[in-house]
Amino acid sequence: MKVNYADTVPLSTLDWRGKAAITIFFRGCPLRCPYCQNHPYLEEPDLVELDFVKEQIRNSRPFVSAVVFSGGEPLMQKGVVPLAEFAKEIGLLVGIHTNGCYPEMAKELVKQKLVDKFFIDIKASPDNPELYGKVAGWGEYEAVKKTPEEITAKVIETIDTAESCGLEPELRTTVIRDLVGSREEIASIASWISKHMKNREVTYVLQQGIPEHSLQENLRKTRVFEREELYELGEIAKNFLKNVRIRTKEAGEEII
Ligand code: SF4
Repeated sequence: MKVNYADTVPLSTLDWRGKAAITIFFRGCPLRCPYCQNHPYLEEPDLVELDFVKEQIRNSRPFVSAVVFSGGEPLMQKGVVPLAEFAKEIGLLVGIHTNGCYPEMAKELVKQKLVDKFFIDIKASPDNPELYGKVAGWGEYEAVKKTPEEITAKVIETIDTAESCGLEPELRTTVIRDLVGSREEIASIASWISKHMKNREVTYVLQQGIPEHSLQENLRKTRVFEREELYELGEIAKNFLKNVRIRTKEAGEEII
């Protein structure tokens, strides 16, 4: 079996808070978020054998306690199942960064007990498919085939899958000026999470989008949200949720 591989960070402390992890990035994604930083991974395939990826996981094993599958969208890859199996066999925890569009794969990993943590994008409020679609590049990029309603339904199913198995997912929103990140939009996302999820302890993270290297050229000159602005947005989310964090270039990760 082959996987559509992009890159490896052999030792990362940023991709899973509190863990030293090896992060594997895969190519391909069904979305085209205008702010995407990993857009070089979206088009050109690079198929490699599973053994190539396993070897890298094995090499990092002495230094890490976890593997994180990221991308692109890792759950597009059927090979993630045997790779997670391999990681488990050598005693690693498995984390998945996902945009939530592949709940079936999420369920398979849960069923086989091959995942320990989901990090799920919540790009806008699922109550607002129109905005969700815009943030996912629907209507702008032909590559985005799912409608906004289909995307939000998949994201909800993925969140429900992660929650129902007691894995305490981390939900995250990337904020970019003039696209998503107004006070109302953040309130609406946090409110949706608080109403929808039984686990009020869920961690919600607001990530500072860096427009400089965005997929969409006209975003690249957009002024980045300052740390103070993000902090204020975090305080708004905190009105609805207990565990809110912000992630910025200036100050790393902060608890609100
Ligand atoms: S979900 Fe969006 S940001 Fe993430 S890889 Fe796909 S296009 Fe890029």
